[in-house]
Amino acid sequence: MNTSDSVNQYFDFAAEHLDLEDGLRDILKRPWRELQIAIPVRMDDHSVKVFNGYRIQHNATRGPYKGGVRYHPDADQYEVRALASLMTWKTALVNIPFGGAKGGVQCDPTSLSSDELNRITRRYTLGIEHFIGVNRDIPAPDLGTNSQTMAWMMDAYGQVNGYTPGIVTGKPVELGGSVGRDSATGRGVMNLVEQLIEEKNLSPSNMRVVVQGFGNVGSWVARIAYDMGFKIIAISDVSGGIYSKLGLNIPNVLKYISENKSIKGFPGSENISNQEILELDCELLIPSAINNVINESNANNVKANMILEAANHPITPEADQILNNKGLLVLPDILCNAGGVIVSYFEWTQNLYQRHWPEETVFSELSEVMKSAYKDVKNLVDSENLTFRQAAFVIGVERVVKATKLRGYV
Ligand code: NAD
Repeated sequence: MNTSDSVNQYFDFAAEHLDLEDGLRDILKRPWRELQIAIPVRMDDHSVKVFNGYRIQHNATRGPYKGGVRYHPDADQYEVRALASLMTWKTALVNIPFGGAKGGVQCDPTSLSSDELNRITRRYTLGIEHFIGVNRDIPAPDLGTNSQTMAWMMDAYGQVNGYTPGIVTGKPVELGGSVGRDSATGRGVMNLVEQLIEEKNLSPSNMRVVVQGFGNVGSWVARIAYDMGFKIIAISDVSGGIYSKLGLNIPNVLKYISENKSIKGFPGSENISNQEILELDCELLIPSAINNVINESNANNVKANMILEAANHPITPEADQILNNKGLLVLPDILCNAGGVIVSYFEWTQNLYQRHWPEETVFSELSEVMKSAYKDVKNLVDSENLTFRQAAFVIGVERVVKATKLRGYV
């Protein structure tokens, strides 16, 4: 089964729960538009390579399409389609006026120079330029892309259309980005953790946290969790992880990475594989890297009490079932990692009005939206005896259904 079919299983549950008619299911399940482009690029060694690029627009009933751009070898049309649909349900769940889209370039950014990435990004942007727009479809960073990628996209789009800062979010602050966007996804995850520990009367110092992935999302989760007093016992990146029973000093880890370009060998830690990290005994497991890492082969070995899906689709539906049967609390991606798109919404709004919000406003508004979405989900979990994932999808899908009916498509 591909990732798109996997995600659609959650949609199917919500559609059944809401007793939606077949035609409506069909409208909501399939993407409205899919663009695939060839991206020819002159490489540093003067050879020419052609990369596959995608922009998939899933649904724009509640507002312009919105979603990140992923640079990864696995970013094919099925993966991008799945991620685009998750954006539709996510923006509806947190109730911001966007639809869902996703972009991707099938490449390995870790093996490309900055000049090559710049050329790929410009070609990609020109290839999708007619498809996106400030009131139509607004890209943002995702796995393998960052604020620099967004600066190149904004520049390439601007060469054709004139100065348009609102065409992408997640830009550098110097080019109209919002303060707090870099940490937003990780911060949003920790807003939920805050809510959970308050509800369950837990203390951070007694909680062991494991974070897989140490890029934008994972590193901010770890930084904020460390500042809140949690014990971060393991972290990892694509090359593997490090573990310390006593807890890792995250500011020192960050310093070590900047000096050594690797997390391996951090003093006082043991090396651990990306498989082992998911099976560590801990209170909180926060997958923050790639899809499908918890699957049928390892779900039974997961020992965490709670999992917060900071990454998109880190758990397959089969594994989700196993974890539910084990009684684990799993907060789903469309809730957990919504902080990124929420602050992207703040950035887009600021760009439209040419105003800048201070950091305190961004952080407090983000926390309010995250906690309010959590409460909506929790109320449905309690009243209808659903899992958090089922409840989150039911809320997201129901909001898009209402908007669809109001628009009069059917
Ligand atoms: P990133 O590129 O900044 O970082 C990815 C991290 O994962 C890196 O540390 C990388 O080394 C690691 N990694 C890559 N492949 C791995 C593998 N096979 N095993 C273990 N680790 C691996 O990406 P990011 O922006 O932090 O995104 C991470 C996840 O969060 C993705 O699923 C993305 O869709 C999701 N997400 C990101 C944002 C955002 O604002 N950036 C928002 C919502 C969701």
